[in-house]
Amino acid sequence: MDTDTYIIRHCKKCKHRQRYDYPKREVAFGLHDDDPFLCSKCNYDSSDYGEVHCNKLDDDILSEWIINPDVYLLEQDEELFLADINYLDLLLKYLDDKKALPAKKIILLEALCVIVYDIIKDDKDKEHLNRLKDELLKRKQLLHDFKDSIMAYLTDVVYPFLGLK
Ligand SMILES: [Zn+2]
Repeated sequence: MDTDTYIIRHCKKCKHRQRYDYPKREVAFGLHDDDPFLCSKCNYDSSDYGEVHCNKLDDDILSEWIINPDVYLLEQDEELFLADINYLDLLLKYLDDKKALPAKKIILLEALCVIVYDIIKDDKDKEHLNRLKDELLKRKQLLHDFKDSIMAYLTDVVYPFLGLK
């Protein structure tokens, strides 16, 4: 078992912090978010929240995520979670993976659009813009095919920036 992936739950009553070790995959996909809790100090059965300690995204996690419709990195807003310039190479790699489910490709594409959107809106990290533009334009067909599935606040800003309709 990976010892560096775990969740710490806080007892709602006595605030005791209890650590639960799980394999990386199970933490990454939130498989234990609703597990029962029992405080080892006061026996109270409700915890406040979990501090999730998990390795950054990697090939183990993403190679399953793109093909398995039943696993989630987050319950919602997965594209915001993935929208990190440090993940750029991973996002592109799995966007190009022929095994990736269309629903996952849309999320990956959205994540890339969020990165571009944030750079344009915040006017920083501009050094990444040229590469992002190049990489996205190499995948013009995907942008075209999935346009209606990508949130409008993103397409309204990112598509004109790329010179796309
Ligand atoms: Zn307690």
